[in-house]
Amino acid sequence: MNRDWAEKNRKIQALLNKKDTYREGIDLLVEFRGELFEQIAYIVNGFPKEAFCRMPFADAKGYQSKTLAYSIWHIFRIEDIVAHSLIQGDQQIFFAENYPDRIGTHRITTGNELQGEQITDFSAELDVSVLYEYAKKVMQSTNELLRSLEASDLRRKFDETDRERLANTECVSTQEEAVWLIDYWCKKSVLGLIKMPFSRHWIVHIEAMQRIKNKLCKLARKGVDPIAYCGFSCNHCFLGQWCGSCRTDYNTCSFATCFPDKICPNAACCRERNLDGCYECDALGDCTKGFYTPDNDGAAAAKAQAMYIRKYGKKAFLKVHNMLHEKYDFAKTQEILGQNSEQGLKLLESVYIPQPMKRD
Ligand code: SF4
Ligand code: SF4
Repeated sequence: MNRDWAEKNRKIQALLNKKDTYREGIDLLVEFRGELFEQIAYIVNGFPKEAFCRMPFADAKGYQSKTLAYSIWHIFRIEDIVAHSLIQGDQQIFFAENYPDRIGTHRITTGNELQGEQITDFSAELDVSVLYEYAKKVMQSTNELLRSLEASDLRRKFDETDRERLANTECVSTQEEAVWLIDYWCKKSVLGLIKMPFSRHWIVHIEAMQRIKNKLCKLARKGVDPIAYCGFSCNHCFLGQWCGSCRTDYNTCSFATCFPDKICPNAACCRERNLDGCYECDALGDCTKGFYTPDNDGAAAAKAQAMYIRKYGKKAFLKVHNMLHEKYDFAKTQEILGQNSEQGLKLLESVYIPQPMKRD
C-alpha cells in the first residue's frame, strides 16, 4: 500500500477509535477521501474512453485484475448501498437520481459476481462521465453522513431486520462471489463500516486503478517515438510512469491537461505545420507558444532540449539524457538546465556531443 496513504489511514482509524478524538478523525477522513478522489478525477479527465474497459492485468489475482470503469462502479455502488440501504435506511442515490438509465446499465449490484470478459463487457456499457458524476455524489453524500455521526452512533450494530432490508434491495448478487457481503457488512458496527468500505476499500481499489492506468500508459507508449513535441524525453520524464506521451491518446502531460481539449499547444502547432516536433521549426528560437511561454518554469529547459535535438539528432539526445541522469540527481530537467535555453544547450553539449560533430 502507498506508504503515505497507509500512514494517513492508520492515523485516522486511531482517532476514530476514541470518543475524544473521533470528530478529528472524521474531519481527516473526509479530507483524505477528497485526496483519494482526486486520483479518480485525474484518471477520468485525462484518459480516453477506451481506457476504461481495458483489463491489462486480466490474469492477475489482485484488485488490478479489473477495469478502470468497474473499479469506480464497484467502490461507489458498495458505498451507496452501505451508506443508504444499511446505515441510513433510506433510498440509494443510484435510484433516487435514476442513475441506472443514465449510466447505461440495468445492473444494480456491486459487480463482485462478474468475472473476466463479463467485466470488460459490462465496463463497455457504462457512460464513464455519468458514472463519475454518480461517484462524486455518493462521496459527498457519505461525507455528510460521516459529519453527522455522534460518537455513540459509531458503536451502532445491525440486526436481522437490517440484514433483510439490505438483502431485499437485490443490490448484492446472490452468487457465491458476492452474497457473503451482506453478512460481512451486517456483522460490523458503523465504526467498522467506516474502516471498510469507506476508507480502506477506496485505498486498495484506487491503488489498483493507478496500476491499471500506468500499465495502459506503458502499453500506449510501446513503439512510439519517445521524444515529446516540445523537446522533452518521455523516457526520462518524471511523469513518464503516469503519462502515455503527447504522441498517443493516453497523454496526461500535466501541461496538456490544463487546456480544455487536453492538447498541448506545441503538439497542436507541430501537427498543424506538419512538423515532427518543435526542433524542426524555424521559429523555435523566438517561440513563446504553449510550453515555451516565458513564465513557464520548464520553458527554457524544453527549448534547450529541442535546440540540442535540432543540432545533434534524437539518438544523441537520448544518450545525453542518460548521461545527464547518471551525472546529476534531478527530477525535472529545469533543475539542471536552468532558465536560459542557450545556457541549457551549452550544459547538454558539455555532457555529450556525438563524435563526428565534436570539434578539436
Ligand atoms: S509529460 Fe510530456 S515529456 Fe512527460 S511523458 Fe508526458 S508527453 Fe512525455
Ligand atoms: S511555432 Fe513554436 S510551438 Fe509551433 S512548431 Fe514552431 S516552435 Fe513549436
